[in-house]
Formats: sequence, structure tokens, C-alpha cells
Amino acid sequence: MADDKNDSTYVPLLSEKHSGIPQWLLEKAQDAKAHVLSVKTKTDNAKPRTLVYPPGVDKSVFDEAVGDLRELLGADQVVLNDLPLEDGWYMEHPNTHDMMYVLDQDELVPSAIAYPGSTEEVQQIVRWANNYRIPIFPISMGRNFGYGGAAPRVRGSVLVDMGKRMNKILDINPDDYTCLVEPGVSFFALHEEIQKKGYDHLWIDTPDVGGGSILGNTLDRGVGYTPYGDHWSVHSGLEVVLPTGEVIRTGMGALPGNNTWQTFPYGFGPYSDGIFSQSNYGIVTKMGMTLMPNPGGFESFAYTFPKEEDLTQLIEIIRPLRISNILENAAQLRHVIQSIAVVGQPRSTYYTGEGAIPIDIIHETASKTPLGDHTWVYYGMSYGPPHIRKYKLDIIDAEFKKVPGGRRIDPATLPPSHYFWARDRIASGTPDVEELRWVQWVPNGAHIAFSPVSPIRGADATRLIEIARRRHHECGIDLLPAFIVGLREMHLIVEIVYDRTDKKRRKAALDCLRAMIQDAAECGYGEYRTHLVLMDQIAGTYNWNDGALMKFNEKLKDVLDPNGILAPGRCGIWPRQYRGRGWEMTRESGESSQGNGVAAD
Ligand code: FAD
Repeated sequence: MADDKNDSTYVPLLSEKHSGIPQWLLEKAQDAKAHVLSVKTKTDNAKPRTLVYPPGVDKSVFDEAVGDLRELLGADQVVLNDLPLEDGWYMEHPNTHDMMYVLDQDELVPSAIAYPGSTEEVQQIVRWANNYRIPIFPISMGRNFGYGGAAPRVRGSVLVDMGKRMNKILDINPDDYTCLVEPGVSFFALHEEIQKKGYDHLWIDTPDVGGGSILGNTLDRGVGYTPYGDHWSVHSGLEVVLPTGEVIRTGMGALPGNNTWQTFPYGFGPYSDGIFSQSNYGIVTKMGMTLMPNPGGFESFAYTFPKEEDLTQLIEIIRPLRISNILENAAQLRHVIQSIAVVGQPRSTYYTGEGAIPIDIIHETASKTPLGDHTWVYYGMSYGPPHIRKYKLDIIDAEFKKVPGGRRIDPATLPPSHYFWARDRIASGTPDVEELRWVQWVPNGAHIAFSPVSPIRGADATRLIEIARRRHHECGIDLLPAFIVGLREMHLIVEIVYDRTDKKRRKAALDCLRAMIQDAAECGYGEYRTHLVLMDQIAGTYNWNDGALMKFNEKLKDVLDPNGILAPGRCGIWPRQYRGRGWEMTRESGESSQGNGVAAD
């Protein structure tokens, strides 16, 4: 089959490509692609573009630098990004730009893409970048959708696409329940390998869609939905190339001949792993991950609750159950509008008027679905053999039914295509693609998230929802909220879905986000993760004691990366060469991500 992005039946397989889909998910992925194409109104720009150079680097220096890099890596392993910006879709995502752009499509673009094949080649790239003072930006898979996709923060950086050639599963240890992976190993790939080896006693933990890299997702502190859902907390050991080219192994990896790198994360001395997540202090070339034991049985459950105001009581009920592990996974409490959006029909099926879709239309639509009308739906899973599950499920049932109108959904009443079963697969470690459906809520759908962290308290949940509702209303945006409840905190995840080809809708999304971030910070809530264009604003809210934490981060940056070449600006951390030159993105900077040059030295 030709590699044709507009052929709805073509989807790359995992056997062809590190970023491909497992054979057993092919049909579902083809269906997802056909769905994306069916609501697409924009034709991709097929024209080659003018190259964007790194800041402060002119054409002659850049040409020489690229020549040198090709000598180091091989001519085919360095590609100039004068390519057309084709958005593709989740399974055929570009590394030329952010497929879900929220600025102009060609704002956050690299000048070139380099494909290292080994840790040594990553070291060579880093030394090369220092030599030419060219910013580089590592990605593992580049599917960081909602957070910047494959785009670099500084326009004209050289993208280091780690996953294409460094995508081996280096080890799966069935006795220790651990693995060691390179950057390009997806959740799909690890799942397939474990199945192939017949290790039925090992489970992976996967995000809602399984095509991301384990390593990139974990470094960005992404989440999944088994009890091992906080990926950063269950990793063990990194190999990192520092911005000056040295390689280190963290934890027990620093001890030659050790056999505990993946079983004891700390080693001896300061625990350095933390500085390599959500940062720009190193390029990770290997990562250890612990794997969950198959609990010997599992059972999904869902409860619906009728009223908006049930949120307060419900969250109070959830807190002790979650902390005491009766509720065992980072389950989801989703709003009814999400129940409708995830069906996959665009919002125009239900409403074609101006502004946000009226809630009575959503309720009326919900009343005709298998879940029936509701305002909140809780999806969870109980683990273990039947008698253990029964103990926990009985407690949950009694507690959830304290909310008047709280209703347990009988899974037997739900058709196999219902979203409930996608949650069932994900919470039991089987990757899926179902979640892509709500992204088509609007044509040319893209999404960007507001994700503040709060205590698991009804009052906090209500306050955050009120902030989100007010700002969405002002900007005429549908509010799609869900609470993801961790062990002692919860994230409110509000996905703004927008038509990426519509400049006004992109601006509305950004205005709404910037306002919510500020409102939330004023109430003491900060975001756990964010898109490239919001990093400066969010980093700026973590400003206790006159910005002491950012001053510390900058000190580290300047020591570890004296030439400021590695991912400048990522997570709001700018090297000294960029500071004070207006590189930070704020409300005022509009669509421009660029500052006023870079200091020579
Ligand atoms: P990459 O894009 O490769 O990496 C992420 C970032 O980490 C990069 O931008 C880079 O800054 C840094 N990085 C990557 N590799 C390296 C390296 N080797 N060294 C140093 N820094 C590096 N996410 C979740 O966490 N949970 C979800 O449930 C979830 N659901 C989603 C649902 C939908 C419908 C969509 C579209 C997205 C969802 N996402 C979710 C967001 C995203 O797709 C995943 O988090 C994905 O795993 C991240 O992309 P990636 O693994 O390809 O990371």
C-alpha cells in the first residue's frame, strides 16, 4: 500500500516503523483515520518552504554546520526542514512542526532534523551544537500532542529525533518486572514485545492513546491509568547525554557491573533524575521502567451522577477511598459533554449556533445514549481475584450511592463499541486509540489543555470548574472537563478543542488558557504540565520568594549548558544568552515566539 496520508486505509504498522500500530489495532486505526479525514476541511500545504535558520546563525554558517553534521551522522540522517507542513494525523504525525498548532503553523518549526543512531552520535550532535552555537531540541516520538507535538520552542532549532533509529527494547526482566528502553519505544511496542514473549505476568501502563514513547511521556511526567499511572514515579534509572557532551548514568547505573539499575532508583548521593524531567538539562538515551504485576483479575466499573453540584460531595467521597487504595487507579471523573464528544460525532451534529453548545442539548443527547442522562461519570477499575474485588467494589458502591441519583452502570448493558470498554482496556494495560475520537469535535480538530493540580476536595474542584466555566463562556468555547485523581491530589484536565485552521478559534483558545492560568494561580493552583507556548507563563506562577526556584533552575542551566544550546526556553528555563531579550511568551507576545536575538557570549 502506498504511503499516502489521504488514503484512509493506509496506517503504518509497527512491523514497518517504530511509530506504527500493532496489527491487531489496524482496523481501529484505519477507522480513526477515516474519521479524521471525514471532518477535515483544510488541504495540507504541499509546497516546499523557505528554510528558517537558527537565531543568530546565517546561511553560510548554517550550510557549513549542516555539512559537518552530515559527515558525523551520514548524509541521510540530517534533513533540512524546507519541507511542506503536512499535519497528517496521530499515527502519521509530522516532525516538521506541531501538528496541533496553536500559533501560526510555521511559527514553531525546526531548521533541520537529525536522526542519531547511538548514544555516541547524540554526544557528537551535542558537541557540534556547542561548536556552532546552534540550539537543538530532542524528541523521542514527537507525539506530545496538546503540549507542542514535535515542535521546538526556539524557531530554527535543529530537532534531534531520537526515536527513529534508537528504538530498541534493551531488556525485559520477567523476574524483576522491569525493562530498559531507548527513546523510540512506544507503549504499543512494549506491549507487543511482552505479549510475544508470553510474559502474561507483566503489565505495562499506557496513556489514553498508546503511540507515544515511554521515555518522552515519562520525562514530561505523563500519566496512564493502572495503579502504575504516574510514570515518573515508576521509572528507575536514566542514561543522559549532558549539554556539554558527557554521558552519565543515574542511580545504580553509576556503579560499574551493577544489576540493580532498574530495581533501585536512587543509588547513592543526590537523586539527580528529577532535573532531567520537564527540563532542558540533558538528552536521555536510555530509561529503566518498572512493570506492574498482573493482579490476577480486573473489573471495570462506571457510575453516573445527575447534577453539576454533585461534584462537591463526590470528590469528598473519592478522597478517602483513593488514599486508602480502595479506588486503585488514577481513574477519571468525566463531564457529560465528554461522554458525547468521545462518541466521535462533530459538535455540528448537535448544534450549529454561535458560542458554546447549550447544556440542555448535551443532556438531551446523553439521555439517548447507553449511559443515560448524567452530568458526571466515574470510570474506575478494581484489581485482583474476585473475592478481593468484591470487598472493594461493595465499599465503592455504598459510598458512591450516597450521592442522590448515583447509579452503577451495568457493563452488560453497554455495547462492545462503548467508550467504557476502551477505559477497561487502558486501565488493564492494553493500549488503544479510541480516545482520538473527541479531537474531531470540530473540523481540523486540535487540542490544548489546562491542567491545574489541587487537593482532592470538593471545594477546590468546584472553584476550578467555576474558573474554567467563566473563561470558557467569555471565549465562546465548549467546556470539556475531567478530573484525574492521583493518590493525594487531582488534576483537572480541561481540553480545549479548536479548529487549528481558524486563527480566531486558536486565539480564543489561547486567550482562554492564559486567563484560566492566571485565575488559578491567584487561588493557589498551578499546572502539572503544559504546551510550549504557555511554559513561560506557568513557570512564572511558581514564583515563591521572588522567583527563587527559577533562579536556581537558571543557575543549573548556565552551569550545565554554558552555551545555552539545549532546548532553550523549555519549561520556561532560558539560558543566559536568551535572558532579558523578550523570548518569554506572554499574553502580549501574541503569535510571535521569538525574542530579540541571542547574546554572543
Ligand atoms: P515526545 O514528544 O517524544 O517527548 C515529550 C517531550 O519530552 C519532548 O517535547 C521533549 O521536550 C522531551 N523529550 C523527549 N525525549 C527526550 C529525550 N530523549 N531527552 C530529553 N528530553 C526529551 N498524555 C498522557 O500523559 N496521558 C494521557 O492519557 C494522554 N492522552 C492523550 C489523548 C489524546 C487524544 C492525545 C492526542 C494525546 C494524549 N496525551 C496524553 C498526550 C501525548 O500524546 C502523550 O503524553 C505522549 O506520550 C507524549 O508524546 P511522546 O511520547 O511522543 O513524547
